[in-house]
Amino acid sequence: MKNSQLYGGIEAGGTKFVCVVANGPDRVVDEVRFPTTTPDETLRRAIQFFQPFVSSGQIHAIGVGCFGPLDLNPKSPTYGHISFTPKPNWSHTDVRGTLQRALNVDIAFDIDVNAAALGETTWGASMGLDSSLYVTIGTGIGGGYIKDGKPLVGMLNLEMGHVLIPHNRELDPFPGICPFHGDCFEGLASGPAIEKRLSLSGALVPEEDAFWDIETHYIASALMNFILTLSPKKIILGGGVMQREFLFPKIRRRARELLNGYVSSKSILESIDNYIVPPALGNQSGSLGAIALAMQMTEAQPL
Ligand SMILES: [Zn+2]
Repeated sequence: MKNSQLYGGIEAGGTKFVCVVANGPDRVVDEVRFPTTTPDETLRRAIQFFQPFVSSGQIHAIGVGCFGPLDLNPKSPTYGHISFTPKPNWSHTDVRGTLQRALNVDIAFDIDVNAAALGETTWGASMGLDSSLYVTIGTGIGGGYIKDGKPLVGMLNLEMGHVLIPHNRELDPFPGICPFHGDCFEGLASGPAIEKRLSLSGALVPEEDAFWDIETHYIASALMNFILTLSPKKIILGGGVMQREFLFPKIRRRARELLNGYVSSKSILESIDNYIVPPALGNQSGSLGAIALAMQMTEAQPL
């Protein structure tokens, strides 16, 4: 119906913002990327980028996939605010309200990983599937589960980065870095956890380093738990740590070992290469996912 309608999308990350005007991966009209600095400066740059498109009537809705934690309860007085975050200056920032007041358009607002998951479901690796899971393993760890085209939300958002996984302290004495739980999944396996443990960025740790077997075990353990509880039809792994592509075959192998034949699905037993996969939209899952959020809010059919 509104096939030519354009939408705004913001991937509001803790280190960078990506703003796009698009209506799908094949029609990205404009895009800008800039570092996340103070809330005032960063949101002002986003507003400046979208202003001409709003003024000319080209966009009426903007989707935002934002780093969290967020208040996503529409009835709450602080709906659309970031709640407490260790990122300096950003706690209690009214991201949604600031954009809405400045641009006077509808704002669809969700957590970043839900937006990325929705982007992959709309145009990417999980297109056409009624259930899928997107897990980002980077600066933080989080998961977005899409069921019947919508991110699953319960009492609050899912927080899959903080599940507990087996931690063999003889093999890996590192205590973990999560300020709440120490050695939860994020505390053990996120990018900053790798860097703190090895005093080296994960991007620079050689492929043959024995540490990757430990990292693989953590990721595969978490995936086993997600497979058993959510039963997604596909798992997409994104984020900075997963840029190391050699991890994919290791994780698939380990996940299958841990499941040990218990889940008798062809996807796992025979075609796990197509079951645990990288994002098909590459580094655009988040920004295009934000476009999909805006489209979903206005109920436009994606191309
Ligand atoms: Zn934790």
